[in-house]
Amino acid sequence: MAQLSDDCFAFGGPMMSVDEAVGIIAARVTPVGEVETVSLAQADGRILASEISAPLPLPPFTNSAVDGYAVRSGDLPPQGEQAFPVTGRIQAGALARESARPGHAIRIFTGAPMPEGADTVFMQEDVRVDEAGKVVLPAGLKPGANVRPAGEDISAGHSALKAGQRLRPQDIALAAAFGLTEVEVRRRIRVAVFSTGNELVSPGAPRAAAQLFDSNRFMLMAMFSRLGCEVSDLGILRDDRASLASGLKQVAAAHDLILTTGGVSTGEEDHVKAGVEDVGTLVLWRMAIKPGRPVAMGIIGGTPFIGLPGNPVASFVTFVHVVRPTVLALAGAMQQPLVPMPVRAAFTYKKKIARREYVRVNLHKAADGVLEVTKFPREGAGLLSSLVDTDGLVELGEEITQVQPGQTVGFLSYASLI
Ligand code: AMP
Ligand code: MG
Repeated sequence: MAQLSDDCFAFGGPMMSVDEAVGIIAARVTPVGEVETVSLAQADGRILASEISAPLPLPPFTNSAVDGYAVRSGDLPPQGEQAFPVTGRIQAGALARESARPGHAIRIFTGAPMPEGADTVFMQEDVRVDEAGKVVLPAGLKPGANVRPAGEDISAGHSALKAGQRLRPQDIALAAAFGLTEVEVRRRIRVAVFSTGNELVSPGAPRAAAQLFDSNRFMLMAMFSRLGCEVSDLGILRDDRASLASGLKQVAAAHDLILTTGGVSTGEEDHVKAGVEDVGTLVLWRMAIKPGRPVAMGIIGGTPFIGLPGNPVASFVTFVHVVRPTVLALAGAMQQPLVPMPVRAAFTYKKKIARREYVRVNLHKAADGVLEVTKFPREGAGLLSSLVDTDGLVELGEEITQVQPGQTVGFLSYASLI
């Protein structure tokens, strides 16, 4: 378990930019140490614990890239066609038993090893076989054509997969191509998730007139799952300092991260701050981000604590910018910067300078073929429909004060965020 110091999230400034938040997290949160070995079938999405260098070149031997006829490049017809007797046949998976004789061609198939002496292959579509059974080869083929040299993909010893990278299907294919059956990965991060609020009930429970079903907890648990975490669903804590304090304290030792949603603004019914301070340390990060309000960052018994706002959209956006980098740092993963894609705005928008804003948008191709985004018509941070009915977020940097139709803006699809 990563033990973080009580002042891990200390910050002196009045407002914190998104980049400062990510920088502090990346620099101060240390990864859990434990690694485990998993089979390739279990490796998707896991964080690689140590580098993998190529134990063999890829491809491991020089082979034909096509079905055709292998020849020595010295024999290539300088001009006009030339007929070659065909001696030998090499299938994929078979060894070339004889070497290529001068003036002869060898029938060869895709993936079959090149015979000794031959270095060029004619595609079968480009040749014809004459009545005598000879293969007639045209002029103009380059020496070395249609051959895949050993190591052209990856040379032996090359640092092919890096420690801290999240394994994707193509990375797993590479490990398999090296003949590996298992890989060393970091253990999954254990996260405890609570909602807070007297107005909340869990779906399935009876709902009183002034209550609503807890939706954030299920959104946040799903986001954690997508980040590869093991999630403990700890239900709803009441707006009460003592029950918050005891609920949080109980789970600290068994988890790498504790997350709550709701109760972190500065109203008198927001008890998360006091509850955490009873059992650990806490700072409120006033982030220069919209939607989003203060995010509570704390340490309880060495375990990091994050308190997100209760409004669903604020909770979603702050998760992406604060929780995601924290999980990556705990998991020993490389930080994965979000890279907005340039698209054309089809909306007008005004914003405050020195604050980063995220606008919920739909992406589509305009009549002139350019990718364009339209803004969701309403802006409330409590509107779940604004997340459900859109494709992603437009990121408006601190320096921007307005958006005009036709302007280029940066788009982040939901799929790229989580
Ligand atoms: P709070 O941050 O506790 O002041 O909550 C802000 C708003 O978000 C209030 O309208 C809450 O009812 C709502 N809210 C808080 N937590 C949740 C939750 N888990 N699911 C849905 N809405 C929530
Ligand atoms: Mg509340």
